[in-house]
Amino acid sequence: MTTSEALFERALRVAPGGVHSPVRAFRSVGGTPIFFESAQGATLRAVDGREYIDYCQSFGPLLLGHRDPDVAREVEAAVNTAWSFGACEPYSLELAEFITARLPWVEKLRFVSSGTEAVMSALRVARAATGRHRILKFEGCYHGHADGLLVKAGSGLAGVAAATSAGVSANVAAETLVTPLDDEVALRSVFAEYGNEIAALILEPLPANYGLLIQRRQFLDEAVRVARAHGALVIFDEVISGFRVALGGMAEVLGIRPDLVTYGKVIGGGFPVGCYGGRRDLMDQVAPAGPVYQAGTLSANPVGMRAGLATLRKIIEVNAYRTLKIRTADLCRRVEAGLKRDGLPFRMARCGSLFWLHGSNGAPIRSVAAIPAGHGERFARIFHELLGRGIYLAPSGYEVGFLSLAHTDEQIDRTVEAILEAVRITSG
Ligand SMILES: *Cc1c(COP(=O)(O)O)cnc(C)c1O
Repeated sequence: MTTSEALFERALRVAPGGVHSPVRAFRSVGGTPIFFESAQGATLRAVDGREYIDYCQSFGPLLLGHRDPDVAREVEAAVNTAWSFGACEPYSLELAEFITARLPWVEKLRFVSSGTEAVMSALRVARAATGRHRILKFEGCYHGHADGLLVKAGSGLAGVAAATSAGVSANVAAETLVTPLDDEVALRSVFAEYGNEIAALILEPLPANYGLLIQRRQFLDEAVRVARAHGALVIFDEVISGFRVALGGMAEVLGIRPDLVTYGKVIGGGFPVGCYGGRRDLMDQVAPAGPVYQAGTLSANPVGMRAGLATLRKIIEVNAYRTLKIRTADLCRRVEAGLKRDGLPFRMARCGSLFWLHGSNGAPIRSVAAIPAGHGERFARIFHELLGRGIYLAPSGYEVGFLSLAHTDEQIDRTVEAILEAVRITSG
């Protein structure tokens, strides 16, 4: 029995499925999850001493890689100052000023402790501000695990959702409408039917939680236009894309000003931080300024605030987005060229420092329905071949890969070779 197997056996006795977040259990790729004991830069070290080049990066927060020295210094200073105040302090003020000064659509913001919490709160504000009860989301966009968002398209009335988790009441699920990505006709028909009941359209402007489903510019423009024409607010869920594809996320890339926006992941530099913000009039609905209650014991935790600010400052200082984009494009192009040479029908979807390997007949994949059948099983075999070669991807074919600034050219070279071998071997 390996060390990880022994630990997992113990974990299974004390935690459901042995984990504290489902994907970690390796259910979709099979096998026993690896237990890691430390990480530095782009490298993970497992409890058995094996090292892996990490393209999961804790599912996105670690844009600078693990334990970036400049962020580490700030974290150490923070830990030596105070762990939590539950009171006013200057650290969250600094991060809030940093963000509002650079992201003009964030006129005011509130820090919370996770992306889920940010989304939940933004929806509450949207309902309060519009006096409407329904939310519209896209199939294939993930917005955390709040009850009303654990839904998929139902089989009955067009747009009406069904719960995807036990424990979500039918009444709550029915408040959410679901429509496919990349389909203007379906979107217009949901608004035609329910337009005056929809408080907000919430979307990942870069859907990156069901593969990387890069949307057409025209589709996003139309979605925003139709929502506003019906008096619905537009919420950009940029928990994954915010501060990742650009400082201002997709709102900056697209030049679209959302009414409300949610952030998480990179904003905390690897610590539990979430944030929601947007129009001043909407954010002034939040308690104690307004009637929408929302609170948190550890909200704006100083360690997370200081790690987040140090991370964002460094990103700007070193022009991280430019470097990451070039390196990711290089990685993806070389993989695609190699696969093409071998006549293997795979593509690497990419945006900024995010990438996603998928089978393809050539056409880009923009919706859940367009993902090739058997993708998950195929990825599972590739995943294990890569593990054997010292490369760690998130353990599911529906998660994206993340480059960090810590990935070296040499590591990227090794990764290109390993992916090519893994796809070849599993295609045989
Ligand atoms: C990760 C993610 C969330 C949930 O954030 P947590 O911190 O895991 O609660 C919500 N929305 C999007 C787009 C995400 O990528």
